[in-house]
Amino acid sequence: MPKVFLDYGHGGGDPGAVAGGYKEKDIVLAIGKRVKYHLERHSFSVIESRSGDTNPSLESRSNMANANYVDVAVSLHCNSFTDKTAQGVEIYTYGQGNREIGLAKAILNQIIKAKLYTKNRGVKQANFHMVREIKTASVLLEMAFISNAEDRKILLNKQEQLAISITKGILNFYEMRYYNEKQNTTEKLYKVQVGAFKERANAERLANELKSKGYSTYITYTEKLYKVQVGAFREKANAERLANELKSKGYSTYIV
Ligand SMILES: [Zn+2]
Repeated sequence: MPKVFLDYGHGGGDPGAVAGGYKEKDIVLAIGKRVKYHLERHSFSVIESRSGDTNPSLESRSNMANANYVDVAVSLHCNSFTDKTAQGVEIYTYGQGNREIGLAKAILNQIIKAKLYTKNRGVKQANFHMVREIKTASVLLEMAFISNAEDRKILLNKQEQLAISITKGILNFYEMRYYNEKQNTTEKLYKVQVGAFKERANAERLANELKSKGYSTYITYTEKLYKVQVGAFREKANAERLANELKSKGYSTYIV
């Protein structure tokens, strides 16, 4: 299953933006922990940039993501501006690759759909460290403006809904379904396996090649092999369709 890097902005001596007595570092940590919880319920593995009130450097955060070969990365922040009327949600990528734009749109769409925003400021590009230095699809989400009273209420009172929306966005990106806590998440998913390698580097190479072609790819390690898998479907027919498409492009595939 995909490995997700969750980065909670700021921390420790760096509170991030502060308004109304609330600190960005605490809000992103609280929401991030719930995203982690919900992703893990769906069998994703999650790596956090910090697990408590500490402030690792930006470089050590991006290094951690890269060293762990994460499949996608999401940085959580709260926006802030001197003009207190500024409000809304926006999400940043560094480039305009299919995967990063796809991930950004998937997350933003779920926040919009759940009506957890005052204004949709859209998907934007910026030269931020976390989206620039992480080698895989990486987005930075500015959930709302802590400096705006209306937005701040969302950040404080809708944390669980925000966390679920972010989770749903990541699941959507992988064409996977969201299950609430009462539902059984152990149903069989069909995945297309494209290769199995003894060396992680070889699996990485193939995964990156597939990612560059727009496929949601991840690597799992079982039976002492690094396996490159694409997609996860409830319907076997959908997995077969993807397998045939990959075969037509010269990949040897089978469904697991
Ligand atoms: Zn921030």
